Amino acid sequence: MRIPFLDLRAQYTSIKAELNAAVLGVLESGQFVLGPEVAAFEQEFAAYCQTKHAVGVNNGTSALHLSLLAAGIGPGDEVVTAAHTFVATVAAIHYCGARPVLVDIDPDTFTMQPQAVEAALTAKTKALIPVHLYGQPADMDSILEIAHRRRLLVIEDACQAHGAEYRGRRVGGLGDIGCFSFYPGKNLGAAGEGGMVVTNNADFAQRIRVLRNWGQERRYHHDLKGYNYRMEGIQGAVLRVKLRHLPAWTAQRQARAGLYDYLLQESGVNVPHVAKDRTHVYHIYPLLAPDRERIQLALREKGIETAVHYPFPVHLSAAYRDAAFGPGSFPVAERVCAQELSLPLYPEMSEDAVRSVVAALKECGVASVARA
Ligand SMILES: *Cc1c(COP(=O)(O)O)cnc(C)c1O
Repeated sequence: MRIPFLDLRAQYTSIKAELNAAVLGVLESGQFVLGPEVAAFEQEFAAYCQTKHAVGVNNGTSALHLSLLAAGIGPGDEVVTAAHTFVATVAAIHYCGARPVLVDIDPDTFTMQPQAVEAALTAKTKALIPVHLYGQPADMDSILEIAHRRRLLVIEDACQAHGAEYRGRRVGGLGDIGCFSFYPGKNLGAAGEGGMVVTNNADFAQRIRVLRNWGQERRYHHDLKGYNYRMEGIQGAVLRVKLRHLPAWTAQRQARAGLYDYLLQESGVNVPHVAKDRTHVYHIYPLLAPDRERIQLALREKGIETAVHYPFPVHLSAAYRDAAFGPGSFPVAERVCAQELSLPLYPEMSEDAVRSVVAALKECGVASVARA
């Protein structure tokens, strides 16, 4: 038995004819950068996110970078975000010359604590970046209430949460601007790199459209200092095909996560908590395990691949140290980094595979897998 952490080949096999035709179509058309497939995908993804505009870019990090630039963030500004996230969220703030101000996360949802956000605000704060980590929306009502009261922009990092809902509304359009990644392993993955910005604000959308393409609205008229952050035609075509399957894939992820939840009840394992009024799209199925390394090794010996998201908190990584945030600054984020263990989960995973993972977990002494 071998159970991979995710299986992109199984996904390709399931829609091979559709994908091959889409890629061939772009090869035939010669429209390799932006072009009609990207434009069509932007429209379809905007509709999926229930937003007016969507702008395709070359990856999720660029989506965050351009969102911050469009929002006017620059040197001297502070942007508040979660201490527990993929490094790109924090890196994008640095790209603009602004200062990332980190706050701790909620121990149940792993998303940023609104009370901590409130405490971190200064006269320099310009924007908040809630991260819908692992596929569950952050506490958006509280975050938006703070933002409105203090006149701050809200940029959602929805790179792990395609289609997740907060009070019946999709992430990405809850704040001012939403950012998505189509890195191959994400819930909606390109055949390479890809990203998207969604918004209901026409000015932000237009500025991001210009910034992604060398700051030009008309060719060679460089009105802004821009970037080469364009989405490729092949990615647009591939993502259009996959977007049609995303609702079914999300339902599959939720079904498999539900089976994990069911089989792990009364096992001593704390299964992921989904807060009221939110849906979880399970990019990741995270457990907390004080003896993570032992469990990972025991599962590996049984042919089961697991992963860790993420082993080191951003504020303790060499490149992103800030004198204000030393070890111990964010106890929840630091504990989650020390204990998080991601179980295999992907839409094509069989029920039997889920049962095998749980059986293996129980065999290797599941009582020790408990929330600290
Ligand atoms: C993947 C990811 C990003 C960056 O996306 P890329 O497409 O890899 O640049 C940003 N934030 C979070 C939370 C992510 O998971």
